[in-house]
Amino acid sequence: SNSSNGHDRGLNIQVILRCRPLSEDEMSAKTPVVIFCNEHRREVSAIRNISHKQINRTFAFDKVLGPSSKQKDLYDQVVSPIVNEVLEGYTCTIFAYGQTGSGKTYTMEGERKAITMNGEFTDDKGIIPRSVQQIFDTLEAQNAEYSMKVSFLEIYSEEIMDLLAVEECSKFLDEKLKKPITLLEDNKGDVFIRGLEEKMVWTANEIYKILEQGSAKRHTAETLLNKQSSRSHVIFSITIHIKECTSEGKELFKCGKLNLVDLAGSENILRSGAREGRAREAGENNKSLLTLGRVINALVEHSGHVPYRDSKLTRLLRDSLGGKTKTCIIATISPSIHFLEETLSTLNYAQRAK
Ligand code: ADP
Ligand code: MG
Repeated sequence: SNSSNGHDRGLNIQVILRCRPLSEDEMSAKTPVVIFCNEHRREVSAIRNISHKQINRTFAFDKVLGPSSKQKDLYDQVVSPIVNEVLEGYTCTIFAYGQTGSGKTYTMEGERKAITMNGEFTDDKGIIPRSVQQIFDTLEAQNAEYSMKVSFLEIYSEEIMDLLAVEECSKFLDEKLKKPITLLEDNKGDVFIRGLEEKMVWTANEIYKILEQGSAKRHTAETLLNKQSSRSHVIFSITIHIKECTSEGKELFKCGKLNLVDLAGSENILRSGAREGRAREAGENNKSLLTLGRVINALVEHSGHVPYRDSKLTRLLRDSLGGKTKTCIIATISPSIHFLEETLSTLNYAQRAK
């Protein structure tokens, strides 16, 4: 029963640090590594020794996954317990935060190359396909009555685009893509999206097609509307309704939700005056990322005012960011010396969220 969880579980933000390996190109270029992970101590050190400018800093997290960690390690250690909560009827949210090229999409979706001939992901599959699989497997094993639906959307420049809705006629694609769907609030303050498609799914394999179509649509929008995909946030949500029968023969209904968020590249955050010109040109693009940082800070510091309303992303996820929900931030970084500046700011951001 859920009643045992009725008490306030308080703030529940978990911060995971994941460092990707050097790519083949980086290795053949003999790129120096400046990031060292100690999984056992749950620490990450940034070390650079050039006589006039030394850097040696260590950061601690709830969990650290180094360059040799596999998708399955992350899933089993971090995501699987969260999916179990969702199956108990809770709302949980996992964010991937980090600079472009650090492994956010790899973590969330997995390697595109890893799709086999019959359309399945291999061991390189990421959190989205694995979560769907775990939900199906668990509910099938319990012989539960359930339904699962998913939504897939993108926030770009504070506008929401549905990545699931399929356009009938490509001629109108341009116009349709320009028309954003709207975020509404009912009189109880609950937020919902008008016009967002939710798709029932019955097998895990359907997810791969949904991911493919979504990324094709993003690609089209990128070309047609001159967008830059590293500036958008992508939210994949899974909602499950479960009907259970207790031993006394009573019916019990549970509704759980999992939000999986591939955030815009963290380099889009405005950090210094020198970048102001570029940021202004980016328009509203940073607003959601900046506000997410402020919301998390306010929650961590228990400050009275939490600025949920300041951006689309935080309004949309309002119910998922606070009191009785579980939030996990996976901060992704590169070990390369060339990314050190951005890596340090990711480490700082992620450490602040703890
Ligand atoms: P982002 O979405 O943050 O821009 P990607 O997920 O596209 O970054 O990752 C950039 C590249 O690095 C991709 O080619 C991806 O396959 C690779 N990569 C990222 N993380 C890992 C990892 N943990 N292990 C192996 N390859 C990775
Ligand atoms: Mg990406």
